[in-house]
Amino acid sequence: MAQSPPAAHSMLGRIPDAFPQGTARVTDSRLREDICRFARSLFERGLTPGSSGNISVRTDDGGWLVTPTNASLGFLDPARLSRLDAQGRLLDGDKPTKEIPLHAALYDSRSSAKAIVHLHSTHAVAVTMLPEIDPASALPPMTPYFLMKCGSTAMLPYYRPGDPAVADAIRGLAGKHSSVLLANHGPVVAGESLEAAVFATEELEETAKLYLLLRGLNPRYLSPAQVQDLIKTFGLTDIHPASLQ
Ligand SMILES: [Zn+2]
Repeated sequence: MAQSPPAAHSMLGRIPDAFPQGTARVTDSRLREDICRFARSLFERGLTPGSSGNISVRTDDGGWLVTPTNASLGFLDPARLSRLDAQGRLLDGDKPTKEIPLHAALYDSRSSAKAIVHLHSTHAVAVTMLPEIDPASALPPMTPYFLMKCGSTAMLPYYRPGDPAVADAIRGLAGKHSSVLLANHGPVVAGESLEAAVFATEELEETAKLYLLLRGLNPRYLSPAQVQDLIKTFGLTDIHPASLQ
């Protein structure tokens, strides 16, 4: 194992403990394989092109495993994933994605988050450029699964990729959204497991696709009463008033 590089590599603020003592532990090699498997699946289905997109997962020691910078999600090497300690210092592997501030801010503001997926998926990006999008609820309540997996999706204004200012914008959401669209860029979704974050990101992309398919056709979305029923039945916590109009 490589020595920790100097503090200049520290990119994160405080990271809460990933797994309290006594909870199930996932082996490092299993986690690495899972990241690469999900990443490849996303890439092969055209959900993030070229070397775009990145994934991070919290590890048992409070650090993270992160996909490297300029790496295609379709061709990741489990042994070369970036391993960071709890302070965000690179312990081993390739240099991490430059979108670390984005991930760090979301972990900081949502203590339940164990994994984050960020893609440049076409339909979700397209939606961010439309004039009518509500930043508090970027997509209407179209399907139950969207609300159950993604809650109300926030939209943030445009930031240059890797701009540390995006971290402040994410923190400004105060952990109230597990799914966020970055304008002209792509979705960022947190989950309580890697699988949950991946599935929610897919749900967000499909919902964006539905929105574009139906735009201008006066579609019937779920009614406020139907949304309230989902909130009550499934104990949903991330649905905001803007999704109930
Ligand atoms: Zn990006």
